[in-house]
Amino acid sequence: MSERAYFDWNATAPLRQEARAAMVTTLGLTGNASSVHAEGRAVRRLVEAAREQVAGLVGAEAKNVTFTSGATEANMLALTPAIEIGGRKSLRDRLFISAIEHPSVRSGGRFPADAVEELPVTGAGVVDLHALRSAIARAERPFVSVMLANNETGVIQPIADIAAIVHAANGVLHVDAVQGPGRIACRIGELGADLMSLSAHKLGGPQGAGALVSRGDIHIGEPLIKGGGQERGLRAGTENVAAIAGFGAAAAVAANQADAARMADSRDRLEAGIKAILPEALIFGQSAPRLPNTTLFAVPGMKAETAIISFDLNGIAVSSGSACSSGKVQASHVLAAMGVEPSLAQGAVRVSLGWSTSESDIENLLDALTKVVSSLRKRHMNAGLAA
Ligand code: PMP
Repeated sequence: MSERAYFDWNATAPLRQEARAAMVTTLGLTGNASSVHAEGRAVRRLVEAAREQVAGLVGAEAKNVTFTSGATEANMLALTPAIEIGGRKSLRDRLFISAIEHPSVRSGGRFPADAVEELPVTGAGVVDLHALRSAIARAERPFVSVMLANNETGVIQPIADIAAIVHAANGVLHVDAVQGPGRIACRIGELGADLMSLSAHKLGGPQGAGALVSRGDIHIGEPLIKGGGQERGLRAGTENVAAIAGFGAAAAVAANQADAARMADSRDRLEAGIKAILPEALIFGQSAPRLPNTTLFAVPGMKAETAIISFDLNGIAVSSGSACSSGKVQASHVLAAMGVEPSLAQGAVRVSLGWSTSESDIENLLDALTKVVSSLRKRHMNAGLAA
């Protein structure tokens, strides 16, 4: 196979043409967005235009968008006891996070470790609403963080229901919406989120830009990075204007979700193909609403590490369901929380596609899967004979 096919969009998506063009234009300018001269003002206009575009993506007001270096930082900025409601301090006493959150949320942000509590999920990977209700009843001013859609399984969380429960308990809700834009509706008001994290590189913008968005009168009372007072005092440091401009341009394209239905068709074809080749394959979270682009599957006896390398040699980029930041596959906390047997979880392979995934990419992946399976079976047989 000469052409490679990229199926790791949940890790990072390709840069959209529109984002690249905005970034190239911006890189040609000189000026600090905080400077009052014409050059500075020109750059400031680009930052503010991008802020409007990102706000438009989630139906927020531009003044409630704070640019950060990515969603990891946005999550860290958001998860603080120092919350202000309507301009008045409303210190949060406890943080509740779902058991399937991204590591940046699981770190607990700026809450002390003993003030952080994990909420269970069902076998389908959906936050257990009964557990949520009874857990937050034990706190006076709870802070809850639940992701919009899981990066491993693609399972979409019932955020509007969660918001109703959280608000009835005097709580504040933060939503890590990183995997949503361009795929599902992400309007902050409709979701009922108070705070929302976004990442540029998951929606066709550059790596190293993100935002924390606030719905209205709930704000962060304590910056994470202090200094020059940029971003209305919430995030010091000279803005990465090219990355912000690219983020804005990508957000404007993602806002119309033009590719979601096509992605769902491709994903369905892909899953039918996987089942045809491997009838014993298990697709995680299949009984819950899922993103239109994500499939996490496993086959008993298959090891993800070996399968991923084998896919790679066959021209296909996929990933394991688990965090793999050090290049070493670790057990997936998401599948563990869903009650999946560790031996099966170890074999989980994540296939995530996007707006430019073609029919032939899907065919190439299924051809590669056939080869991967037959070579793994041969290896198994040889191991069996040797034993
Ligand atoms: N949250 C989720 C759900 C993610 O998938 C990621 C990226 N893996 C992040 C947060 C972190 O985003 P960033 O890479 O922008 O720091």
